[in-house]
Amino acid sequence: MSSESIISKFEKQINELRSEYRERIPEKISEIESEWNDFKTGNKKWDGITPLYFLTHKLTGLTASFQLNEVHETANILESYLQYLIENKSSLNDIHFSKIDDLITELKSRAVTCLNQNAESEKQDERFLKQFSPSSSPKKLIYILESDQGLSEDLNHQIAFFGYNVQNFSDFNSLRNESIISSPSAIIFDITSRPKSIDSGKILELKNLHEIPIPIIFISAYAELTDRLHSVRAGSDAYFNNPVDITKLIDKLDSLTVRPAPDPFRIMVIDDEIFQAAYNSLLLQQAGMISAVVSDPLRVMETLIDFRPELILMAMYMKECSGMELASVIRQQDAYIGVPIVFLATDANRNKEMEVMRQGGDDFLTKSILPEDLISSIILRAERSRILGSFMQRDSLTGLFNHTKIKEQLMIELTRTKRQGGNLAFAMLDIDSFKSVNDTYGHLTGDRVIKNLSRLLMQRLRKTDIIGRYGGEEFAIIFTDTKVNNAFKVLDEIRKSFASIHQQSEGISFSASFSFGICGYPETDGAGKINEIADRALYEAKRSGRNRGVLSSK
Ligand code: GH3
Ligand code: MG
Ligand code: MG
Repeated sequence: MSSESIISKFEKQINELRSEYRERIPEKISEIESEWNDFKTGNKKWDGITPLYFLTHKLTGLTASFQLNEVHETANILESYLQYLIENKSSLNDIHFSKIDDLITELKSRAVTCLNQNAESEKQDERFLKQFSPSSSPKKLIYILESDQGLSEDLNHQIAFFGYNVQNFSDFNSLRNESIISSPSAIIFDITSRPKSIDSGKILELKNLHEIPIPIIFISAYAELTDRLHSVRAGSDAYFNNPVDITKLIDKLDSLTVRPAPDPFRIMVIDDEIFQAAYNSLLLQQAGMISAVVSDPLRVMETLIDFRPELILMAMYMKECSGMELASVIRQQDAYIGVPIVFLATDANRNKEMEVMRQGGDDFLTKSILPEDLISSIILRAERSRILGSFMQRDSLTGLFNHTKIKEQLMIELTRTKRQGGNLAFAMLDIDSFKSVNDTYGHLTGDRVIKNLSRLLMQRLRKTDIIGRYGGEEFAIIFTDTKVNNAFKVLDEIRKSFASIHQQSEGISFSASFSFGICGYPETDGAGKINEIADRALYEAKRSGRNRGVLSSK
């Protein structure tokens, strides 16, 4: 699907949601009116007015989000007025009554205007849709100009291991023509002739075909300074000697190309007004995030465990409980202490309560905020929280979960799997004879082998699999929703791939391998037991010759 059709689909969805809501505004105002009539025939005490306040608050918020301005203006005044009455604990007199009567009457007449499409409202509709600007996804296309030595097929293979989309060319002109049509993330020149003999002007022109220069990498057997200089003049960003150290090349490609998009943020939207929840959820999804909606606040805990949100976007007021109460309940659980909670307020909510909540580390956004501002605020907070979290949970060499975190994850995932009646597999990996890698090639090379394996695991496993560095050259993997046989097959393929990578150390090529032990739920139960059985299976794999996997069914 082209990005254009995604955008128009999104625009269609959000517009439909808005139209549907617009149709229901009279109904929402009727609810407000009947709540008000109930209040008038009831005890008329100030605190009985809260339900009316909540209903108005929701109308204010949604009409702000959907830019239904006529209704929004009046709803906002009514909300502020009710809030003023509640805050001052006023006993209501005739002036209050007629003021509220008037505002509700005005709301009704504005709802009629809002429903009757006219030139002004058409302009408003257009403005509404204009706010949603397209976003593009980064490419990771690598073009290689092959040398005539046939080396690049292997190079191709190696680079593709790490998740790049590689395309080979045997002549400069076809590479250039293709680069005009689809700009690659980088171009590699795998050359046998001396760089000096290459037309630097042609390469510079290629580099600057598009607005953003294309990173250029040279691979050559010549190591003289003049050759390197010439490559720099041709606009190269990196220069490698044959045989290529694949790890260094991948590192370079990673840093030169647009980084693959980070994992999408997982945002939980809690709101019992389903239109508001759907609107926010659509916005977040359009910006590339994953959202889960909870419209019944009493069911929050299940979704928390299943969805693992990185940020919670919460309504201030809900029928069953307030957002603040719900936030306290969530924060009482250690696992969710660090999850930022952002409250969605209306402009009328600027009161002391907000200040108190701000001091508690929570944040506020108002529903009249522009979509792009809402998105960037959410991304900023989610990023910050992800970085803070990573300091505590991640291993510094590989960026994978550390020992403590992976053990914690195994317990969480097992609980979830058992509740949902699914499958789970757990594997322990250990690089073979790693001591001799260190002894032969040095500790730094050893580190690079560890990084290579972690990168391969990240590339090959699914986003839902959880990878940890268990210790030195040991890794642990949790395969969620996976039968142990299938996990074994996947990991065994990765084992073969890893063994076929040419590890490099100062021009010397060598290979490394790993062994693994694997077991799964429901065959084995209990996090401690699963850990122990997988470890025993790993020991068995080592004992029976290394570079293999052992599945334990116990
Ligand atoms: P086996 O096949 O039985 O696993 O043999 P092995 O040599 O891999 O096992 P052993 O546990 O005896 O040695 C592991 C070595 O890994 C010892 C340690 O110095 C090294 N090591 C641990 N952490 C790191 C690290 O972060 N970087 C490097 N370069 N080496 C590490
Ligand atoms: Mg070990
Ligand atoms: Mg080992």
